[in-house]
Amino acid sequence: MLKKLFGKSVKPSETAPDKAATPPATPASSASSTPKAAAKTPKPRAKAKPKPPKSWSVSEFNVPPEEGKTRFHDLNLPEPLMRGIAELGYEYCSPIQAQVLPYTLDGYDAIGKAQTGTGKTAAFLITVITDLLNKPVESERYVGEPRALVIAPTRELVQQIADDAKNLCKYTGLHVVSLIGGVDYDRQQRELEKQAVDIVVATPGRLMDFKERSQIYLDQVEIMVIDEADRMLDMGFIPQVKRIISHTPKKTARQTLLFSATFTPDILNLSERWTHEPVRVEIEPDSVAADTVEQIVYIVSADEKLALLKKCISDESVESVIIFANRRDTTRKLHEKLTKSGFKAGILSGDIPQNKRSRTLEDFKSGKLNVLVATDVAGRGIHINGISHVVNYTLPEDPEDYVHRIGRTGRAGAQGVSISFACEDDAFMLPDIEQLLGRKLNAVLPPEDLLN
Ligand code: AMP
Repeated sequence: MLKKLFGKSVKPSETAPDKAATPPATPASSASSTPKAAAKTPKPRAKAKPKPPKSWSVSEFNVPPEEGKTRFHDLNLPEPLMRGIAELGYEYCSPIQAQVLPYTLDGYDAIGKAQTGTGKTAAFLITVITDLLNKPVESERYVGEPRALVIAPTRELVQQIADDAKNLCKYTGLHVVSLIGGVDYDRQQRELEKQAVDIVVATPGRLMDFKERSQIYLDQVEIMVIDEADRMLDMGFIPQVKRIISHTPKKTARQTLLFSATFTPDILNLSERWTHEPVRVEIEPDSVAADTVEQIVYIVSADEKLALLKKCISDESVESVIIFANRRDTTRKLHEKLTKSGFKAGILSGDIPQNKRSRTLEDFKSGKLNVLVATDVAGRGIHINGISHVVNYTLPEDPEDYVHRIGRTGRAGAQGVSISFACEDDAFMLPDIEQLLGRKLNAVLPPEDLLN
């Protein structure tokens, strides 16, 4: 609590020496008067957001108390946020939400061991939104000064978090901006300048681009979230993350939430450095998807895989499927071959331009495509309910990725199926996966009809 008040009582001009040297400390309310915009024809004023059509009260969001479950009603959340939660159809907190929210809503730092599928995104967003709504800023605000910052390793994940944030913020008046590489920089800059920004969700690289061009200032950040810290470490982003954090208020003057799928010694070291007396919450991976996913492992030779894959995904039970491979070139070849064979397939991998990836995801969500070939990095942030099957065309090198992959199906209580191919090149990875899952996977030869 104290630290948050401290964070806010500091005037921007007192804490941002770099800003004094840089002219554009423009009041957010007059963003269009920046030098760049002044040279053009004056833009029309942005219209105020239309008011929601009808008033609403929490009494319309009826969720009966249930033994052992926490309702969002029990957490004293602001009404506009409750309305967003109600509209998303959430009723009871997921385990990580129930464990972490009582602390984070009280201003404590937290480190959470949790991965996608656990509801961690809503856990940190609900904390952020409640904090921002409960402590409105009375003084004048400046362009490019977010009050909350969320950083995540991949563009897909950032987009997903920003989408969730926009949904939860729908009735709050808070302005969410996402900053990611590979898409129009100027458009993101305009979003930042349009009005005072409350929540920025960003990949580290693109955020640093904005920082280096003095288009964003992080000294007013009251609450910061570092998501998928382990993945940031794997992808070599930690130096950038350190620089970003060094531009925010010190850890006793901001609230910090850190999430990671694993707690390795490296991650725990970083958490210690970045958080202040955090609460620690761990949600085990096998409580995520395993219960609702039927896991099949086929023993197959490398040269039989493609034919087997086509047979498997032609089955009528396959409504939509994500096929994972470890390498980009494998995904490319697979995508090419499946498309040639008439499958409505899309591809998600790091070398595909961002706008194309976003389109592919949209087409997959809408059902225009029902097959998606993906690498782990690109596939990690996919949160789509209703994916019936996941295929591991190659077994992942990191057993955690197996859990992430199969967690793309069997979501929201639905049943899902994962089919993994174990061939001479990668079957040796099975024992490590089984160890992480805490159970044996029954590897079998594919049924005859799938091989002919
Ligand atoms: P995440 O772990 O953040 O990837 O969230 C997984 C999915 O669970 C997302 O589709 C969320 O919209 C959904 N979700 C998050 N919290 C809840 C909740 N309390 N009740 C129902 N669904 C939720």
